[in-house]
Amino acid sequence: MTLAEARAARSLYFHFPFCETKCHYCDFYSLGREKTKPGDPDRFETAMIREITLRGEGGELASPIETIFFGGGTPSMTPPDSMKRITDTLFRYATLAPGYEWTMEANPSSIDVEKFRAFKALGINRVSMGVQSLKGEHLLKLGRVHDEAQATQALEAVFSAGFQNVSTDLLCGVPGQTIHDLKSHIERLTSFPIQHLSIYLLTLPPHHSMYKELPNENEQLEHLLLIDQEMRARGFDHYEISNFARPGRQARHNLVYWTGGSYLSFGPSAHSFSKDARVRFKNVSSLHKYATMLIEESRLPMEWSETLNESQMELEKWMLAIRLSEGFPKVWLVSDRQRQKGHLFIERGLLEEHPDHPERLRATVRGFALSDALVKELL
Ligand code: SF4
Repeated sequence: MTLAEARAARSLYFHFPFCETKCHYCDFYSLGREKTKPGDPDRFETAMIREITLRGEGGELASPIETIFFGGGTPSMTPPDSMKRITDTLFRYATLAPGYEWTMEANPSSIDVEKFRAFKALGINRVSMGVQSLKGEHLLKLGRVHDEAQATQALEAVFSAGFQNVSTDLLCGVPGQTIHDLKSHIERLTSFPIQHLSIYLLTLPPHHSMYKELPNENEQLEHLLLIDQEMRARGFDHYEISNFARPGRQARHNLVYWTGGSYLSFGPSAHSFSKDARVRFKNVSSLHKYATMLIEESRLPMEWSETLNESQMELEKWMLAIRLSEGFPKVWLVSDRQRQKGHLFIERGLLEEHPDHPERLRATVRGFALSDALVKELL
């Protein structure tokens, strides 16, 4: 990525790799306490400060910053004073735009009201809480360390600390989870003044011990339809396949990803993308390598970079658009074959005309469930 291209990224992602334990279904780069050596958190902090400094000195940081996302891993495990040293370094090179969005992911087991207050004092103004389930047996099955009571206490704490823009994450498709469970989770979560809810379908590799217990496609669709109905009835907009927001509270940072915008990322395993250059690059997925490259070798921790060709860009464009309730312009259906497919999918209730923008088509909830197949056919 050239400097000018990197500077175009006004959205920054920071990956904090530590977790209490490794959840059974997780494929993010993260280290549970059993894999964390004493001194690793300090070394990580030094390395991340070094990465920010190298990029800042190299003129790669755009200013002002529109969105920041602290993800992981479990960023809320980071001591606030360590977080402050990291963000103080960042603000040597860039400022925050008025109306910025700055999200931190939090897990119920690693947070209390005092810690939330300290994070808020840094300027963080949005929290995404990884609740995942409010049923003890499902949390155990997933390998989560918190229980139901901790999840609700953490939600009480985040609002007591004064956060007003709070999102929660739930998982659906958990073996043994019923429609009733999902409905009751939604009722309980929306009894808090949350502004956003992400509900992801649990996916596991075929060799996983729980793989055979996953619900089939019909059950998944039933869950998706219920979630859509329950959330819309509560005033949330189903604006992305897995995401619901109160009006004006869509996740702005994630919308940058979903609309093919540029973002610059820091930390082990973090991906960056430059829209103008069509370049994607990734940092190394190893804390040890990340720290060595930055601290001992004074070089950026890049693992690979690739320039997307026309057909990759076209595929990305479709994959992203089909997942958003904004959908895509009808003029994207260029050939007779594409237009026929479009009509067929409308007849089958998988696509519909956008109610506010008749020049656009979008996936229905049933279409969301089959989004990969739709794109394959439409392309
Ligand atoms: S808390 Fe999140 S990042 Fe950490 S192991 Fe569990 S799923 Fe992965």
